[in-house]
Amino acid sequence: MPSAYQINEGTKFIILDLEWNQPFPGKEYGIDVSTLRGEIIDIGAEKYTYSCGGLIHEGSFSMQVRPKVYRKLHYHVQKLTHKTNKEIRNGVPFEEAFPEYLSFCGDDYILVCWGNSDPDILKQNMKHYGFDDKIDHPFFDLQPVFSRFAGERGQQRSVEFAVDFYNIPKDDTFHSAWADSHYTGLIFKNMFEHNKASELLAVIGSSLRNPDLVKEFAFVSGETENLDEAYKTAFEFPQICPICKELLKSKIEPFRIRKSVYALYSCKEHGDFFCRTRVKKSKQSKYIAAMVIRFATQSDYYLIADKAEEFKKFGIQGEPKTPPKEDETKM
Ligand SMILES: [Zn+2]
Repeated sequence: MPSAYQINEGTKFIILDLEWNQPFPGKEYGIDVSTLRGEIIDIGAEKYTYSCGGLIHEGSFSMQVRPKVYRKLHYHVQKLTHKTNKEIRNGVPFEEAFPEYLSFCGDDYILVCWGNSDPDILKQNMKHYGFDDKIDHPFFDLQPVFSRFAGERGQQRSVEFAVDFYNIPKDDTFHSAWADSHYTGLIFKNMFEHNKASELLAVIGSSLRNPDLVKEFAFVSGETENLDEAYKTAFEFPQICPICKELLKSKIEPFRIRKSVYALYSCKEHGDFFCRTRVKKSKQSKYIAAMVIRFATQSDYYLIADKAEEFKKFGIQGEPKTPPKEDETKM
C-alpha cells in the first residue's frame, strides 16, 4: 500500500458493508473464537469513481454467505438483520464468495466502511478460510468524516441518521449488507454534493490508514513505589491520538473499576479510541501502569458501557462477585 495516497480524477472507492454471525458465549466450536469474532453471512459493496469533484456510481455487489463455524444465528444478529437460519444456509461458501468480491473490487481502490469493525472481521474471515489476510488497500471510516461535515463532530451516528440528514429516500430495511452499503454509498455521494470537494478530500486524506497495520498502541509509565500513585498516572497519560498526535477529546472520562482504568476518547480525524490501563507489579516489586489504546470496535463500546454502568452502581470495587453455590460444587 502506498504510504501517501493521492485521491485524483478516476480514483475508485469501494464501499463495503458486512453482516456477520457471532458465537454463543461458552459454546465450543473447536476453534479459538477470539480469532474469528464474527463469521461473515452477507457481503454488500458499491463501487464509485471520483470525477469532477463528485462521485459516479459504477456498480453494486451483493452476496449471502453460508457460515460454516457459527452456523446457528445468534439472537442479537437475528434481531438486527431479520435473517433466518434457513436463509443463511442458502448462502455461498466464503471460499467462493470472497474471490467474487475481489474481482468486483478490481486492483486499485480505497476501501470505505461505516465504522471500523468491518476490515477486522474481513481479515479474520480471510485468514480462517486460508486466504492471505492482507487487505492491501488504504481504508477510512466514513462515520467520523460524516459527523464532522454534518456539524456533529464526535457524535457516533448510524447510517439511517445520515440518510435522513441528506433526505435520501428510504425504500429498504437497514442492516442488510446490500442496503447498508447502498445507503453508505449514497451518503458519501451526498457529502460531495453538499461540501467543498477540496475540504472533503483533505479530511479523507488525513483519515486514510493501512487496515493491515496494528490498531493497538501501548504505553507504559515509569515505576513507582506506591500503588495509588501508579493508578494516578493512569489518569494522566498523554491523551493524544496515536496516529496524528492531536489532543483527544474524552467521550467517557477515565474511571477505575477493580484493577483497570477505562476511558473512551475521540480524535476528530480518526474516530474513537478505546483505552484501558492496568497497573502491574514489576520485577523489583514496584508498580507500573500499562495503557492500551485502540480503535474502538463495537464490542469495545459495549464493554465500556457495561463497565461504566457497573462503576456508577458499585464504584471502584465493582459488582461483588457471588461465591459459587455450595450444593452445586458438592455434586
Ligand atoms: Zn488522530
